[in-house]
Amino acid sequence: MSRVAIVGGGLAGFVAYLTLRRAGVEDVTVFAPETDPAAAWRRRAAAIRQTHMRSESDGHCLPTSFPGLAVRDARARRSLVPLVRSVCDRYHPTVEDFLAHVEELRMSSGWSERVVPQRIARVSAVDGAFALHPSHLGPGSNQVPDLGVAGRGDTPLGSAPFAARESPSAIEGDSMPGVPQLGPGSDLVPARRFDHVLLATGHAGLAMPEELCGDPRAVHSYAPHEYAESVCVVGAGLAAATEWRNALAAGARVISVRRREPQRRPLNVPRPYLSRRGLSSFHRASADHRAATLRELLAPSYPPGREWDAPLESGRFSVEARVNGADQVVCATGFTRGYEHDPLLRRLVEEHELATADRWIALAPDSTVPGLTDSSRTLAIAGVASQWAYPAADTLMGARYAAHGFVSRCRTR
Ligand SMILES: Cc1cc2nc3c(=O)[nH]c(=O)nc-3n(C[C@H](O)[C@H](O)[C@H](O)COP(=O)(O)OP(=O)(O)OC[C@H]3O[C@@H](n4cnc5c(N)ncnc54)[C@H](O)[C@@H]3O)c2cc1C
Repeated sequence: MSRVAIVGGGLAGFVAYLTLRRAGVEDVTVFAPETDPAAAWRRRAAAIRQTHMRSESDGHCLPTSFPGLAVRDARARRSLVPLVRSVCDRYHPTVEDFLAHVEELRMSSGWSERVVPQRIARVSAVDGAFALHPSHLGPGSNQVPDLGVAGRGDTPLGSAPFAARESPSAIEGDSMPGVPQLGPGSDLVPARRFDHVLLATGHAGLAMPEELCGDPRAVHSYAPHEYAESVCVVGAGLAAATEWRNALAAGARVISVRRREPQRRPLNVPRPYLSRRGLSSFHRASADHRAATLRELLAPSYPPGREWDAPLESGRFSVEARVNGADQVVCATGFTRGYEHDPLLRRLVEEHELATADRWIALAPDSTVPGLTDSSRTLAIAGVASQWAYPAADTLMGARYAAHGFVSRCRTR
């Protein structure tokens, strides 16, 4: 029987778990610091006061795009409107409905019983399988502390607090030849062996402009905040647009500081890149071309529409070249970018000399890691770190894409 593990228990790991279950793969171990798969997402969405899902009709965690949450909404409202909107890709579930749906699936799928509350510090390839080495969290402890809002993943500048506390791990018994054993007296946390492993570790940290680090007025948009009387918002993407709107609604004077004019696109990654045809031409492109395409696609943008433009007509909104004397600076500057910010991925690349291009690990089109995936074992990546395979990887749709690639290997190998 193949042993299957998911490292990271956020929404991408959760979608993969549900997809595995649907395919009949029951024996899955999830390594995650929290049992709530929406924990990281919930904190960030609450910080920017998100009310509706950004994604269109597929903003849910089910293994297939359709029917999604529209059917349930249509039943509850006794109306066909949600279904019609869904078919036209215009259905945005509320955050409340989305979170209720995640919680229902968590309860009914046995997810929490599969979660081992450990962080994985290292993944190493060992004869035909993978060894997962848990982080050491302090003397005598295998427990994961409650990270709260400032935990890893929401820590500015990617300063992952756990990275510094990792210790070398050891191997249980002799079951894993090829992995170095530690000497006696080490504070050991045994590694575990799996045939198929999906890494879904999410973003490594929040990005703050260097010049604002240490500025007491500065807060990241994905950290909880109220609004001061005058608010300078740095950034030009969806989070920035949301902050302009929220701060204006709260009565603040808003100054937008941006390096470039915001791009207006309904979806961050344009629709052709979500189709089989568009994807295969992306996969065929040279590494340089692909990296340039990704940089372009991932530039900050927010949707066109009156709902975004109208608030900015207020006399309390202005655009300026640099951060000035505002009472508060909200940094809508997203996350640190690239595998190198994630200690687990960085180590994986270094130890196994994986091919990379710019800030991306060069994955196969099905989101697996070439060289470490063969007929007996699979190493795959989901979430933002798998953009090389699927440009919209950091969406629920992207989580589904990686999950299906992974599941077909777990089922057929
Ligand atoms: C505010 C906001 C709103 C969004 N709205 C939408 C939307 O409406 N629709 C949509 O499709 N997408 C949306 N997204 C994008 C995307 O769906 C989310 O970012 C989603 O949370 C990504 O899930 P993830 O599992 O990759 O990362 P996360 O949810 O961050 O989860 C990663 C998990 O892995 C854990 N982890 C990290 N390293 C390790 C390790 N070494 N060992 C064990 N565990 C580890 C972390 O602690 C964390 O729990 C939104 C993103 C944000 C920020």
